[in-house]
Amino acid sequence: MNKIGIIGAMEIEVETLKSHMQITNTLERASMNFLEGLLHDIPVVIVRSGIGKVNAGMCVQILADVFQVTHVINTGVAGSLNAVIDIGDIVISTDTLYHDVDATGFGYPLGEIPQLGTLNFTADAAMVAQAKASCEIVNPDIKVFEGRIVSGDQFVSNPHVKDTILKNFPGSFCTEMEGAAIAHAAWLNHIPFVIIRAISDKADDSAHMDYPAFEKAAAEHSARLVEHLIQQL
Ligand code: SAH
Repeated sequence: MNKIGIIGAMEIEVETLKSHMQITNTLERASMNFLEGLLHDIPVVIVRSGIGKVNAGMCVQILADVFQVTHVINTGVAGSLNAVIDIGDIVISTDTLYHDVDATGFGYPLGEIPQLGTLNFTADAAMVAQAKASCEIVNPDIKVFEGRIVSGDQFVSNPHVKDTILKNFPGSFCTEMEGAAIAHAAWLNHIPFVIIRAISDKADDSAHMDYPAFEKAAAEHSARLVEHLIQQL
């Protein structure tokens, strides 16, 4: 039977989902509160991981070890890296990678962790397809894109940093701070995953203004999609 781990880095990304679930068990681990129960009769564990790669990776490991989740979904907000992808639109990960990892001195491609054997982490194709279908049902007025999501321990709000990321990883769709770490930890544990992000800003010098203005609405777009998606897996 499915048990779906749902992670948001911030409370705003999971608060609506939490308010809709029937909680049967709560557990605090690594300063994170895991809520286990049913969301529309589907077994879920919902948790706020905290921001950044370490929090995100640890959170997945606890979902794997303690709760034995069968799927991992990350819901949240991100900065767009593509002029076509606007604030409020949704990006579903085809794959993810770290834009801030550099072991090129040993001959590894930029972004690849030495000895891991992969540069990127591929999302589960069925979850990606279903997430897109769910988005078209619950958010019919919102544009949805499937593509690469890049992560790093950086809030990208400088156009030069954005340009560098795009020069290093052409064609990336959006950037955030947890997705690749969630994907990495899920991949190590052989758990299918998908990262779902609604755009809160353009990851440039308008991000300081746009992010606070659009964070809440974007987080809700993504969460609404997740609520439908879990019922289709
Ligand atoms: N509002 C928070 C900080 C948010 S950090 C505070 O003031 O404490 C940004 C969060 O949104 C991260 O979880 C990240 O995954 C995502 N995000 C949105 N836009 C981003 C951008 N332009 N660059 C990096 N992460 C971004």
